[in-house]
Formats: sequence, structure tokens, C-alpha cells
Amino acid sequence: MTDNIQSSMSADSSAGTPAVAAAEVAKVNLLGMPEAKLVAFFETLGEKRFRAVQVMKWIHQLGADSFDQMTNVSKDLRAKLEKIAEIRPPEVVKQLDSTDGTRKFLIRVSGGNVVETVYIPDGDRGTLCVSSQVGCSLDCSFCATGKQGFNRDLTAAEIIGQVWIAAKSFGQLQHGAERSVTNVVMMGMGEPLLNFDNVVDSMNLMMHDNCYGISKRRVTLSTSGVVPALDRLSQYTDACLAISLHAPNDALRNELVPINRKYPIAMLLDSAKRYIEALPDTHRKITIEYTLIDQVNDRPHHAHELAELLKDVPVKINLIPFNPFNLSNYKRVSNNALRRFQDILMQAGYITTVRTTRGDDIDAACGQLAGSVNDITRRSERHRARFDESQPVKILAQS
Ligand code: SF4
Repeated sequence: MTDNIQSSMSADSSAGTPAVAAAEVAKVNLLGMPEAKLVAFFETLGEKRFRAVQVMKWIHQLGADSFDQMTNVSKDLRAKLEKIAEIRPPEVVKQLDSTDGTRKFLIRVSGGNVVETVYIPDGDRGTLCVSSQVGCSLDCSFCATGKQGFNRDLTAAEIIGQVWIAAKSFGQLQHGAERSVTNVVMMGMGEPLLNFDNVVDSMNLMMHDNCYGISKRRVTLSTSGVVPALDRLSQYTDACLAISLHAPNDALRNELVPINRKYPIAMLLDSAKRYIEALPDTHRKITIEYTLIDQVNDRPHHAHELAELLKDVPVKINLIPFNPFNLSNYKRVSNNALRRFQDILMQAGYITTVRTTRGDDIDAACGQLAGSVNDITRRSERHRARFDESQPVKILAQS
């Protein structure tokens, strides 16, 4: 970002040079700029801090995408900004609305790839599931996004832009409007901790009082377990934490979540505990996400093992029935197995919720819709070839 500020400074200081030279300098996108950088940017223009705050509010609270709209900013400054900066959200390719109120956005990011953002209303809560990368390199065996391979990290503008787009689509970004996006989960496409700086900058904009003002208890980062990055997370944010666990032991998790081979469960849970303990407020719990796959990780002995594993960790558990998709021959957990699994955990004293399927009429598994547009490393072809060879799903353990 420093480079961008410097290039914009040179654009500004080149006022006396031919117009074509100024036009060639890329404009700085202010959409994803955190407060400190925005203040520094305005200082390079000889402007005071409060200008940065004004512009921040125009962008994130009032949905401005041009400097013309900023009527409390002087005309001179607006003209100057127009030359060197922009507010550029990613492009919405498609908006799909489910009969149950779920709204899904297909969003094109620079380079032409597409990511997904999903809004899920539930009573007085509206949760936005935000993507952090185009594709994902971690290749979890039950995940549609993982089958696409990895292309690139999203910029902070492309991440916070998803919140901007969703909030604006509900008319939230105007004076006196009710808040529609009340919660955000960094749980869409990609592994957020592999795009650390941009994700942290974006989450801090979500929680900033001059932006979306979402409570730190309502912004959640979900990770599959990039332990070194998790170890430094508390220095930069105090958002909530979710762990994509999906298995109660290393042997099974190595198969489902391959990064476990590098950072096994004990190491991951220790790091997660340290994160929670470092937060200034007490009583926070880590959310454990556990996708239940028929005959793979849904047996009673798995539930008992999970209860034992988590006994010294402050957690609540979210069970997610696997959502089948074309390139996987895993099957959805049966209702009986799901109930039995939940009962065992609840009897062991855990708050255990079940994520209900939403938006069935507009899509299925997360990543599937964008996956039909992106296939970055042609990984889906390779997976399909494997299935054509009728390779059976490996059943790892049964009761
Ligand atoms: S579950 Fe998350 S970390 Fe694993 S492949 Fe999918 S997007 Fe990546």
C-alpha cells in the first residue's frame, strides 16, 4: 500500500506534466484501505485526519462509489481525489435470491475469476459468509472450493467489497437504514489465514465504528489450521475464532483436512486456546465446525472421541451435514446419525448446534457455483477422472 500511496503522490506532484503521464499512474483504490493507511494517504495530500474519517464514512456507511457524492468534502479536494484515487468494488456477475431469504452473489474479481458471497437471514440476524481467496490450495477432501485449485489471494478491497455489495443490496448504506448484515463469517472460499494482511485489514474495517460497526463478537474468522498465522492473529484483531475440525483424531483429519499433516490437532487446539486467552474479554468460546459425512466421521465413537478431545477447550460445536456435490462421492449424514452425534455431545455438556441447509433452490455446497465458472488448475477434471475409474470412497472408521 505504501507503494500505492507513493505512486499517487507522484501522480499528484506531476500536476504540471503532460496529462498522459498522470493518466498512466494507476489510481489508488480507497475501498480496502484501513484507517491508518487512509490517514497517511490524506496526509500525503496535505489534508488533516478528519478528511480520512469523512471519506471512510462516505464509502462504508453511505455506500459512495464516487467522490462527487461526498458533499461535505471541498470541491478542490474532490477534484484532486478524482485524479489519483477511486472507490472500486468488485463486479456482481449474478445475484440469486432464494425463497427462504438467502441471497447469493457471484462476484467477479480482477483477473476475471469469480468468488461467492452468501447472505443468510435468521430471525433478527443476517450473516454474510465472505470469501478470502480465489479457490483454495488446501484441498480438503469434502470441499467444492478445494477442487478448483488455488489462483490468488483477494485484495482487501475485494474482501470488504463483498460486505459493501451485500449491505448496499439491502439498502443498508444510507442514513437511518436498519442493519441487514449483522454478522460476518470469513468462511467462504479460501483459507483466510493464508491471506493474513488483507483479511485482517478487512475484518478491522467490518468492526470499525466509522465503517460497518459490527461487534467483535459477530465477526468470525474460520481456519483449517494454519498454526503460525493463528499464533500471531491476536496481535492484529480480536474477532471470534472458528476451527474447521471435522475429525476427532489425526489419522482421520489427515485424510479430510490435509494441512493437519503439517499442523496436527493438538498443536492447532493449543494455538486456538492461546488466541482466545489473549483476548481482552473473557467467556469467549471457539466454534468447532464439524462436517458430518455418512460413514466417514459420523459414528458414535467419533462423537465420544470428540467430546474427550475438547474437554479442556472452551468451545461450542456446530455440526454441518455434508452437502453433496458432483466431484465428491461422500454422502450426507443420515438424520438418525446426526441426532445421535448431537445427543452424545450434548450429554457430554457441549453446546451443540446443527447448521440447517439454506438456499437449496439457488445452489448447493459452498464453492460449487463459482466452481462451475472457475476451474483454475483443471483440478476438477483430474477428480472426475479418478471417479471415472470407480475408485471407492475410503471409509476410515466405522462403529
Ligand atoms: S474447506 Fe476451506 S480450507 Fe479446506 S479446501 Fe475448502 S476453502 Fe480451503
